[in-house]
Amino acid sequence: MNHISHWIGGAERAGTSGRVGPVFNPATGEQSARVDLASAAEVAEAVAVARAAAGQWRSASLSQRSAVVFKFRELLAQRAGELAAIITAEHGKVLADAAGEVARGLENVEFATGVPHLMKGGFSEQAATGVDVYSIRQPLGVVAGITPFNFPAMVPLWMCATAIATGNAFVLKPSEKDPSAALWLARLWAEAGLPAGVFTVVNGDKEAVDALLAHPDIAAVSFVGSTPIARYIYETGTAHGKRVQALGGAKNHMIVLPDAELDAAADAAISAGYGAAGERCMAISVVVAVGEIADPLVEAIAARLPRIRVGAGTEAGVDMGPLISAEHRDRVAGYIEAGASAGAAVIADGRKADDLPEEGFFLGATLLDNVTPEMTVYTDEIFGPVLSVVRVRTYAEAVALVNDNEYGNGVAIFTRDGGAARRFQFEVDAGMVGVNVPIPVPVAYYSFGGWKASLFGDSHMYGPDGIRFYTRGKVVTSRWPDPGTSAIDLGFPQTR
Ligand code: NAD
Repeated sequence: MNHISHWIGGAERAGTSGRVGPVFNPATGEQSARVDLASAAEVAEAVAVARAAAGQWRSASLSQRSAVVFKFRELLAQRAGELAAIITAEHGKVLADAAGEVARGLENVEFATGVPHLMKGGFSEQAATGVDVYSIRQPLGVVAGITPFNFPAMVPLWMCATAIATGNAFVLKPSEKDPSAALWLARLWAEAGLPAGVFTVVNGDKEAVDALLAHPDIAAVSFVGSTPIARYIYETGTAHGKRVQALGGAKNHMIVLPDAELDAAADAAISAGYGAAGERCMAISVVVAVGEIADPLVEAIAARLPRIRVGAGTEAGVDMGPLISAEHRDRVAGYIEAGASAGAAVIADGRKADDLPEEGFFLGATLLDNVTPEMTVYTDEIFGPVLSVVRVRTYAEAVALVNDNEYGNGVAIFTRDGGAARRFQFEVDAGMVGVNVPIPVPVAYYSFGGWKASLFGDSHMYGPDGIRFYTRGKVVTSRWPDPGTSAIDLGFPQTR
């Protein structure tokens, strides 16, 4: 059985805590590996190595740093298929989807290659007579990333490319459910010429996370995961004086107005609802059907369901892979039961899908109609292939529904009315809005982040916010006076 350890000081390092966790192949249900779970002492050792490396790395010139990121980009582009296969083996998503995850992560690396431009400061000549003022941005030191199982490569890439390019050392604590992608990235960084210690992987669970949150040499923490843990990370990290950005869970709505293009809306609902078996923070989990489009829309979505082929992510022609674990599959199945008992109309029941493979953590696509806001299938993030349809009469009711929801990650509107779409973009309380786009994940030169319980902190991830998050500003006021003009002046400095 595969044994997955840590990456410290530029090399693999076996764990010493004596604690390990199981890693499964979700398509077979079999354990494929065991992963070392770091103790607080191992985390401290990793941080010490990272701290020493950070001191050197921040002195590397911008062009040296960007050259390493360029090389990493080249290697990643060449070997994207290798990484996609690793993702599929431990996460279960289909290979094409895993390749899409790598492609989106690659965009963040490409953004970070522009670091010399992105870290430029400002300069004001002659702010006062003979005085110039300029601003610079400097790295924080050692920063940590704590990432979820559902994007084992993309989310670490959201963080590490920018953190490293800006001159920090980055310590990654990946999900213990699919940790191999992180180790693969570590080897790639080494091959790209990144000095040892600048990229570190400590595998682990709560113990390792808590050690990072309390460690005085960790200056900032980037977190992506579920809302209760995101809140905990934010509160604990900031209580320890750290800069924290903590992205949480979601319940993304797709509003379909009566004038929407029906087929396009139904296709989008299927793709965004069931892609990656619903295990995406930007998955659509609620379709809000406005007015008379509800019946034809539900019919159009239902008619497409039999086309979704469920199976191992490695098999050609498969659209939807398994869920991450047996427990999670059972939890999602429990929501289907709860929805049915609460009065939702079960149009398709994924538990009863007839093409489900016998082994592995599979569940078919479920469609629930006539879902109402007090049902748990509506209130809770299910994170599985369950799409709920809520019927409302008006646009105003649809927006009120979204704005009353606890979460505010992504949201989409489907309409042919530009005025309605513009009004929606103005009124809706969510961080990422799609207009006839069901999964509006921002491109790498914007930043990614939700509102409300989907993000704790004030900084979104990657893009311009990422550059700001991983650096701090310094303003220099400078004068090169003629010694002959020097005089004592106890007044407060003025610019005039
Ligand atoms: P999770 O919150 O269970 O785990 C995320 C990370 O936190 C993992 O590294 C895990 O080891 C660690 N962790 C778990 N429990 C902990 C605890 N008690 N104390 C300290 N650390 C702990 O999330 P997950 O199940 O891996 O991922 C799915 C969740 O992530 C969903 O809620 C999804 O919406 C969310 N997500 C959000 C975004 C976003 O951008 N907002 C993106 C991807 C995933």
